[in-house]
Amino acid sequence: MSKHPVRVRFCPSPTGFLHIGGVRTALFNFLFAKRHNGTFILRLEDTDRERFVEAGVGQIVEVLDWLGLRPDEGYWAGEHTGDVGPYIQSERLPKYGEVVQQLVDAGLAYKSIIAPDEFIVLRDAAIAEKRPFVYRRSMEPANGRAGDSGALPIRLDIEAVGKHLGIHEVSWQDEVRGQGSAALSVVDDFILMKADGFPTYNFANIVDDHHMQISHVMRGDEFISSMPKHALLYDALGYDRPVWAHLPVILGNDGSKLSKRHGDTDALQYREKGYLPEALLNFLALLGWNDGTEQEVFTLEEMIEKFSLDRIQKSPAKFDMERLNWLNGVYIREKLTEDEYVKRAERELHAAGVKVGDNLREVVLLERDRIKSFAELPDVVGFFFSQPRPKQSAELATKKLAVDTVKSYIELAIAALAECDDTELAIEQALRDVVGREGIKVGDFFSTIRIGITGRTAAPGLFETIHTLTIKESLVRLRKLNAVL
Ligand code: GLU
Repeated sequence: MSKHPVRVRFCPSPTGFLHIGGVRTALFNFLFAKRHNGTFILRLEDTDRERFVEAGVGQIVEVLDWLGLRPDEGYWAGEHTGDVGPYIQSERLPKYGEVVQQLVDAGLAYKSIIAPDEFIVLRDAAIAEKRPFVYRRSMEPANGRAGDSGALPIRLDIEAVGKHLGIHEVSWQDEVRGQGSAALSVVDDFILMKADGFPTYNFANIVDDHHMQISHVMRGDEFISSMPKHALLYDALGYDRPVWAHLPVILGNDGSKLSKRHGDTDALQYREKGYLPEALLNFLALLGWNDGTEQEVFTLEEMIEKFSLDRIQKSPAKFDMERLNWLNGVYIREKLTEDEYVKRAERELHAAGVKVGDNLREVVLLERDRIKSFAELPDVVGFFFSQPRPKQSAELATKKLAVDTVKSYIELAIAALAECDDTELAIEQALRDVVGREGIKVGDFFSTIRIGITGRTAAPGLFETIHTLTIKESLVRLRKLNAVL
């Protein structure tokens, strides 16, 4: 490891909900920190006041808390923990003021007096002539907004920086992408401090990473375009550069940019939909990383143990909901203990307003092998706790079969069950005897009974369902259905 100690950060901008891609970034930073006994820091980048959304802050904490990605240092639920805070950029303005002044004093940055409309005229002229538009100090007007002191943006003077560093080109190393470089002639005199007194993302990000002693910067690929500016700022300020690793872009299954079409982009939706944190983390870890084997199911401990920057891929990661559903099913079936499974199932049913009975445990265990997420439970086991509506069942049962047929099947079932012991085996025997004796179609007969007692066409095995529900309750339901046929 090139730098010690490992200090990494997740620094989202609270501009709305937390994007699922952002959670992947948080996870990779978390894993890396844990792998190297380092520190995982949460910082809020809220300097874009127009896009700032107050509720976004709470959401970030909620998602990280749900997934167990708690920072070791930084902002957390209204508190700041650590020696290099505050960890919210809007509370760090004096720091940025101080650093920008150093650059101005060194002749590497300047108060830009060009008025916004004049700037636009210059830019549009370049666009019209199909020239690249690169703003320079030499383009500053003689007077401009010189009188407006205090309300002027400050720009980095790229030519002065190039002279100061003795370079015409800036280059950098990325652990994932390899070497990158850009000629200074294409880098704009970009803004460090805006007229509203807030720093830009590019400036605040570097100042904070330095003062928070960040050793490794891991973030989404979309920030790679900022690399020339970031590398130059580190050098201009005389700061040591961190190690950079840009995580591959996440695409939908069809190869287009990830959007709602491919799955939820709002991370909290996965909690609402009953996904297990462990399964979601496992899924996100594989978006751009693997351990070099075919292994797909990883506990958090295994991910921590195996995570390394050199196994992060360059090529785009595919967001495949089927894989997430599969993983979630694996966790539900194999990774939870029976007690954990029942507890989570109960929580989910409770949240959905299902009034459960004493047979809760038995009921939810019946579905354990079938569900892909807990959110399916209220729908698939609800009938155990409340009777289906006879009218609706009647409608469903007579879709394929004539009313008379349905009625005769229900009567046959009632007669058979009324005489039968309440064990799965006896129930099966009794119902199969009817089929043999009457020479009726087994599929039609069983599906009519299933609809009669569950109100659904799909349910767990018929005999175990009747047994779990009890023959007594099943008979009540079948009689009610018979009455409305
Ligand atoms: N505030 C940036 C974001 O919204 C952080 C980018 C970075 O990690 O440098 O994702």
